[in-house]
Amino acid sequence: MENSLLSNGEQIIQTYRSSVGTELIPFMNNVSSISIYAIQLFDASGKPLLEDKSEPVVPDAERIRHVLAGTVVRDIENDGRYPMVGLPFPVDGKPYALFVMLKSNELWMQSNKEVSTELLTVFLVGSFLILAATRFIVKPLLRLRDAAGSLAQGNFDVKIRTNRKDEIGQLNASFNEMAQELAKLDRMRREFVANVSHEIQSPLTSISGFAKAMKQKRMSEESRMYYLTIIEEESERLSRISQNLLRLSSLQHDPYSVHSTAFRLDEQLRKVVIALEPQWSGKEIAVELDLKPVTVHADEDQLSQVWMNLLGNGIKFTPVRGRICIRSYTEGRSAVVCIMDNGIGIPEDQRTDIFKPFHKTDKARDRAVSGSGLGLSIVKQIVDMHEGEIRADEESGGGSVFTVKLPIRKGL
Ligand code: ADP
Repeated sequence: MENSLLSNGEQIIQTYRSSVGTELIPFMNNVSSISIYAIQLFDASGKPLLEDKSEPVVPDAERIRHVLAGTVVRDIENDGRYPMVGLPFPVDGKPYALFVMLKSNELWMQSNKEVSTELLTVFLVGSFLILAATRFIVKPLLRLRDAAGSLAQGNFDVKIRTNRKDEIGQLNASFNEMAQELAKLDRMRREFVANVSHEIQSPLTSISGFAKAMKQKRMSEESRMYYLTIIEEESERLSRISQNLLRLSSLQHDPYSVHSTAFRLDEQLRKVVIALEPQWSGKEIAVELDLKPVTVHADEDQLSQVWMNLLGNGIKFTPVRGRICIRSYTEGRSAVVCIMDNGIGIPEDQRTDIFKPFHKTDKARDRAVSGSGLGLSIVKQIVDMHEGEIRADEESGGGSVFTVKLPIRKGL
């Protein structure tokens, strides 16, 4: 704008200089009447020389002085009025100052008004959109925050209802899933604590009961020995429970604690059978072995515990003069071990539950065989850590069969 004003002023000066013999003031009055800019000429005393227009050009005295002294004044701010420039215009040795100013016009005012209306519309529409976005995005996030707060306080029943399928909807669905899992974990934790307390309570009750009974002075040697044996057995049971709990917890807390070596699985099974010989021969149980040579890459101690627990259960839940059969073979890239017995069997609906801590079938409870219900949980944990599988089925003769499938690691 400033440049345009300047070049306009220069053009006026140039036109005047090129038209020889023209009177300055009439010429400038003519130019002023046809120019799209407002112009004014000041003489050396600072007096305006052109006819006053509706748009008077009134620069302050100092600016006029500067221009008369030969300086171009660019006064784009012009104290809040329209932009103005001043050009020195010496004629016949006399200094004049030519000022060119932007005229206000209707169009300019009109476009200004339109721009303001547009800006106001943009502002209103923008505010409305921001409000809508707030409702659409911020509200669900606030709901999520409240739900997370209530979850943190232990209320696992929180559920966020939503029909949305977008990212917020997916976030809500993941939150609901997490709350469900936490609720499940919390339930399991409570059950676990209740089971531990129950398992510990019953031996403690018998120990304290029999200890009180032994305080009686008159008691036969036979009764005393009987009571002491019970106290001893119950103490051993307590110790077994705590050992198993510790073992289970250490396996669960360090699922990578598998120290693998290569060893012959069939030989390990044979050793376990020999180690448990007093128990199965005491019940006159016939143990049949069908062991194909198979080398696995696994944690030897942990797997030995697996067979001890499975064979121990087989012996425990098989009647006197029963039969236990152990088979091992390879199937593809896996080693398979089956331990079958013709004992009391496991009801179909409990064949997965028996791997949970403290789960015992009713049949097993009735028989009052000692056990805490932790053995199979330890077995399952170890098999899982070896990326293997374990399942319980019914043996054709009515007993149970436990099948363990372990991967034979690459290169072996
Ligand atoms: P427990 O110390 O009671 O034996 P386990 O975890 O080893 O604990 O076994 C859990 C339950 O699974 C047992 O109480 C029993 O009801 C059932 N069970 C395990 N093995 C057998 C089996 N060979 N025959 C019948 N029931 C079994």
